[in-house]
Amino acid sequence: MLTEYVTEEQPITDIFSRPLRNLRVSVTDRCNLRCQYCMPEEEYVWLPRQDLLTFEEINRLVDIFTELGVNKVRMTGGEPLLRRDLPALVKMLARNPRVKDLALTTNGVLLGEEAKPLYDAGLHRVTVSLDTLRPQRFKALMRRDSLGKVLNGIKAAREAGFERVKIDAVIMRGVNEDELVDLLEYGKRLGAEVRFIEYMDVGGATRWSMDNVVSRAEMLDLLGRQYGRIKPVTEVSSAPAERFVLQDGTVFGIIASTTAPFCSTCDRSRLTADGMWYLCLYALNGMDLRTPLRAGASREEIKSVIVSRWTERRDRGAEERLQLGSRGVLVPIEGLKKDPHLEMHTKGG
Ligand code: SAM
Repeated sequence: MLTEYVTEEQPITDIFSRPLRNLRVSVTDRCNLRCQYCMPEEEYVWLPRQDLLTFEEINRLVDIFTELGVNKVRMTGGEPLLRRDLPALVKMLARNPRVKDLALTTNGVLLGEEAKPLYDAGLHRVTVSLDTLRPQRFKALMRRDSLGKVLNGIKAAREAGFERVKIDAVIMRGVNEDELVDLLEYGKRLGAEVRFIEYMDVGGATRWSMDNVVSRAEMLDLLGRQYGRIKPVTEVSSAPAERFVLQDGTVFGIIASTTAPFCSTCDRSRLTADGMWYLCLYALNGMDLRTPLRAGASREEIKSVIVSRWTERRDRGAEERLQLGSRGVLVPIEGLKKDPHLEMHTKGG
């Protein structure tokens, strides 16, 4: 395919006609929490510092991606707010007119200080991960005593001017399924949309078992007992969350990646902090874009590498996992140590 024929309206598509629209950019593999479902180990192998892309390099790659159809960019990690001076990167990305949606996923611990600078730099949206409102439970699940900071951070985001704050909560059996209503009520008070996420068997979730997954059906059942009839919101979207509405008009989402994957409309790919490009959250191999970038490859050369990879894309990772007879962890610890790119916190959640 000749890249000059690719436009914003006519993005490149993969084998299953899925467009390249959505890019998640991990800006660091480091994190200041140790969530049991993501980073349960005591020690990790970190990416070498000299391999991390500079802001200029990230901006250059994002720019190239947007010329091929990407119009949604989400910064993630690790914990993206650990990357020093993140607002400077936001400022660069916000200048790109092809980026229609510039978002950030954060655990919120540092949002109290960073919300205003991020807003002023031009960030459009913030999603905060928050799985519990109970301090002791937070400490046990995230293995850090930071709930107060997260709640402050969410407040600061609202005060800074972010109107569309979202709250993402991973729900695990025997851990927090009794907080569905509390989290939804918290979101209501704040005017933030809450999205419940099924526990996923992604790389890094080394304690995962199907027994701990609370399915979308079960979540709807639990919520229905409190709120009565819940109706699905009819919409055509490539967003991972299926949305529902309560009788009082409150809208919430459920991301059922484990029991009802949405691979058929997945337009997402991921760039790690050291410039590896992954076409699926479950992919075991990525493509190194840092090496050609640093070797001085031209814009057209990098574009054609991206185009050839995307047009051959046939990844349906979550659907393939669902079809497995017996399902255990995706990558055992030894495999993660050998290739830390396979960790969710490196690939970019
Ligand atoms: N540190 C940031 C944060 O906490 O939002 C961004 C990175 S984090 C890896 C992104 C998202 O992935 C978080 O919402 C987290 O809850 C989710 N996540 C991590 N491991 C998961 C798992 N095993 N199942 C479902 N969601 C998971």
